Amino acid sequence: MTAIAIDGPTGAGKSTIARRAAERLGFIYVDTGALYRTIGLSMLRRGIDLSDAAAVAAGLDGLKVSLRFQDGEQRVLLGDEDVSGEIRTAEVSMAASKVSAVPAVREFLFQLQRDMAKSNNVIMDGRDIGTVVLPNADVKIFLTASPEIRARRRFEEMIAKGMQTTYEEVLSDLEQRDYNDTHRAIAPLKPAPEAVTIDTSGDTFDQAVERVLAVIRGS
Ligand code: C5P
Repeated sequence: MTAIAIDGPTGAGKSTIARRAAERLGFIYVDTGALYRTIGLSMLRRGIDLSDAAAVAAGLDGLKVSLRFQDGEQRVLLGDEDVSGEIRTAEVSMAASKVSAVPAVREFLFQLQRDMAKSNNVIMDGRDIGTVVLPNADVKIFLTASPEIRARRRFEEMIAKGMQTTYEEVLSDLEQRDYNDTHRAIAPLKPAPEAVTIDTSGDTFDQAVERVLAVIRGS
C-alpha cells in the first residue's frame, strides 16, 4: 500500500488539490478534517460546551463516526446519518477546530484514520497526518499559501456555494483557526521534518496539482 500525507493550514487548497491528485493516481482521497467536523457537529447539536475538555471527552461516549466511499467520493456518517453537507458551515469549522485540541478526540479518530491507510492506497489530508497519523507515509507534503490568498480562495468558494459572508470575516476566521491549530499542545500543525513544502500562493489550481504530482512521482 502507498500512503501520501498532505498537511497544511486552513484554506491552502489541500482538499481540492488532494482530491484531484488522488483521481489521477487512482488512490482513495481521505479528508480527515471531515471527521473532526462531524464530532464538532455532534457536540454542537447536543449543546456541549466546547471549551470544556472534560465535557467534550465525555461526549464521545457512544458516538459513531465512519467514512464511506460512494463513486470515489468520501461521505462521512454520524451514526447512520450522512452529514457530509451539514459539516461545511462556518460554525462547524470553528467547532471542529475547538474539539480537535482535546486529546480524547484525537485518540478517538486515530485508529479509524490508520485503518483507512492499511487497506487502501491513500492520499490523506489533515494537520497531523505526516507527523502523527502516518509517520511512515511514503511521501509527505506540507501545502501552504499566504493567509490573504487562502482567505480569498475560501471566500470565493463560500460565495459560489451561496453562503453569506465577507472576505474580512473569512480571513479573521482562518487566522483564528491557524492560531488554534498551531498552538495546541497535542499534535499541533507543523511540517514533518522530511515533508516537502509547497507554497501555492502563485499557482493556479492546475499548477498546484501538477506540483503535488511531481513530488509524489519523484519520490
Ligand atoms: O481541514 P478542515 O478545515 O476540514 O478541518 C477542520 C478542523 O479540524 C481544523 O481547523 C483542525 O482544527 C481540525 N483538524 C485536525 N487534524 C486533522 C484534520 C483537521 O486537527 N488531521
